[in-house]
Amino acid sequence: MSAQSDDPSEPACGALGCHERADVVIRHPTYGKRTVCDNCTGGYPVIRHV
Ligand SMILES: [Zn+2]
Repeated sequence: MSAQSDDPSEPACGALGCHERADVVIRHPTYGKRTVCDNCTGGYPVIRHV
């Protein structure tokens, strides 16, 4: 089995302009649940890790 770093089944960070793989789901006051990477949480509460 070959491990691919850009597996399309991996969730991508939902932040604009960010192409990191998503790490967590945060609760955003405006957008609701957002799936983002560790660098894009914006200080919002982390609901769960992905
Ligand atoms: Zn990001």
